[in-house]
Amino acid sequence: MADIRQLFELQELDLKIDALEKALSGTRARLADESAVTAARQKSATLKARQRDTAVKRSAKERDVAELKGRLNKLDERLYGGAIKNVKEMTATQGERDGVQHEIIREEEALLELMLDVEDTQEALREAEEALGKVEAERKAHKVTLAESEKRQSADLSALKSQRETLTEPVPPRWLYTYDTVRKAKGGVAVAKLERGNMCGGCRITLSTSETQKAKAADGLFQCNSCKRILYIA
Ligand SMILES: [Zn+2]
Repeated sequence: MADIRQLFELQELDLKIDALEKALSGTRARLADESAVTAARQKSATLKARQRDTAVKRSAKERDVAELKGRLNKLDERLYGGAIKNVKEMTATQGERDGVQHEIIREEEALLELMLDVEDTQEALREAEEALGKVEAERKAHKVTLAESEKRQSADLSALKSQRETLTEPVPPRWLYTYDTVRKAKGGVAVAKLERGNMCGGCRITLSTSETQKAKAADGLFQCNSCKRILYIA
C-alpha cells in the first residue's frame, strides 16, 4: 500500500542524488580545467619569446659597437698615421673622432642595459619553467585524484538511482506526478514534515486547526495551503 513515508524517503533520496550530481559535475569541471597549466605555459612562452627578442637586440647592438670601434680605429690611424697634412682636416677628423667616441659610449650603455635585460629575462624564465614543472606535476597528481572521485561518485550515483527506482515502484503515478511538479517549483523539496503538530516544515507557516485535522485525516496527499508542499506527518 502506498504511504506518504515513501514520498518522504524519496525526497531524502532525491536530495542526496541532487547533492551527488552537483558534486560530480564539479569534479568533471575540475577535471576539464587546465587553466593553471595553460597560464603557466603561457608565461613561460612569453618569457622565451622575450629572451629570443633581447638576444637578437643584444647581438645587433654588439655589432653596432664593433662597427663604431672599427670606425674609431680608422680615424685614429688617419689622425696619428701622418696622412693628414693640414690643420683644417686635422680638426675635422678630430671632431669626427669625438663624435664616434661619444656614440660608442652611448651605445655601450645601451648594450649594458640590454645585457641586464637578458639576465633578468633568463632568471624570470628559469623561475617560470620551474613553476611550470611544479604546476604540471601537481595537475597530474590532482587529475588522478579527480578521476578516482569521478569514478566513485558515478558509481554512488548509479546506486542511488537504482534505489530510487525501487523506492518509486509502489508509489502511485499521480503521487509521483504531484511530487515531481512540486519539487520542480520548490527548489527540489516537495515533501515537508508537519512540525510541532501544526507547522509546515517547508514554509514554517502554522496550519489552522481545521487544516491540521484535514492533514491528519487525509487518505492521500495533503498539500500545505501556503507553499503547496506535500505534508508528511511522522
Ligand atoms: Zn508550507
